[in-house]
Amino acid sequence: MLRSSFVRSRSTLARAYSTKTLKIGLIPGDGIGREVIPAGKAVLEALPKEDGLSFEFVNLLAGFEHFKQTGTALPDETVEVLKKECDGALFGAVSSPTTKVAGYSSPIVALRKKLGLYANVRPVKSVDGAPGRPVDLVIVRENTEDLYIKQERQYTAEDGTQVAEAIKRITETASQRIGKMAFDIALSRQALRDAGAPSIHKTSTVTITHKSNVLSLSDGLFRETIRKFYDANKDKYGSVNVNEQIVDSMVYRLFREPEVFDVVVGPNLYGDILSDGAAALVGSLGVVPSANVGDEFVIGEPCHGSAPDIEGKGISNPIATIRSTALMLEFLGFPNPAARIYKAVDANLAEGKILTPDLGGSSSTQDVINDIIKRL
Ligand code: ATP
Repeated sequence: MLRSSFVRSRSTLARAYSTKTLKIGLIPGDGIGREVIPAGKAVLEALPKEDGLSFEFVNLLAGFEHFKQTGTALPDETVEVLKKECDGALFGAVSSPTTKVAGYSSPIVALRKKLGLYANVRPVKSVDGAPGRPVDLVIVRENTEDLYIKQERQYTAEDGTQVAEAIKRITETASQRIGKMAFDIALSRQALRDAGAPSIHKTSTVTITHKSNVLSLSDGLFRETIRKFYDANKDKYGSVNVNEQIVDSMVYRLFREPEVFDVVVGPNLYGDILSDGAAALVGSLGVVPSANVGDEFVIGEPCHGSAPDIEGKGISNPIATIRSTALMLEFLGFPNPAARIYKAVDANLAEGKILTPDLGGSSSTQDVINDIIKRL
């Protein structure tokens, strides 16, 4: 569990503190996004009055379906309303066509850019007492650069065969910013532990993951920048240990001994792959949340995609979205209601009776929502 006191000075938070009513943008997107976003809304509405929060919601459009209907994946109005009216938002999922569709680009990628959401934060936690090795880690993925700048080209080589190339961009600015976020999260987790929150970790560690043995300039810059930042800020972050791990051995260790990892920071591509891999350690993509975080805004987003194979069956797991909702509250500066939501989810999972089929159960999405709300 994260605590976001480190973002309290941010302007969004100033707004959040000045009012007890938070306005939340709801962007269901495609597929099961439309089935799970109502879970986030229902949980916020069910928070007990003693938490002192109330919510207004605004439904916003985006997605591949919207693109097919209108030619636009992310309407300007959605961005404007988020920027001007909302304190935070929840994003469901977006279908991603596997081949290029003229004029289409992912609305969540665009939203991250337009709202300056430079970090994707993904906590992955096993249920206490569950069989298997315990997991309690957070992956902090850089969200703005690396291979995802999508500067690709394809051409015909002299021998007539095709060649495709992509640019991997790493900057000192983005690397430092994401490194700082990782250290701040490590400190926040430590503060929670010090306050008695249960954890498998006794000390804080940030693990920098990279492949600088091969990509010595690009991944080398990522690694060096974060280390330099740490060295220059030892007075603040000295209690946090710093490790590094080449990304391939990182994958191996993640599966062999996930309990050693606390906070893992990586460039965009490795962060993306590691997050989905880590999700496999805790049973289902359907329970893993994320938050897209910037200095001005936060969007909670389940890690899974639009899951067309289960769409419309009423069995999508709402837990990733419900935990993303709690994560959004944390980054907005409300750790107590966030903790209440995490606890209700953990109790549902620990009891193991009302679960969707991805976790081996036979309950519906709505059954799980009702059970969690009952426990709030
Ligand atoms: P997309 O193209 O949108 O990424 P996808 O099906 O390729 O969709 P995911 O949506 O991430 O990728 O789904 C991967 C697998 O995990 C699918 O079999 C899907 O049914 C399952 N899954 C994903 N999310 C959930 C969920 N919330 N509840 C239950 N199963 C899920």
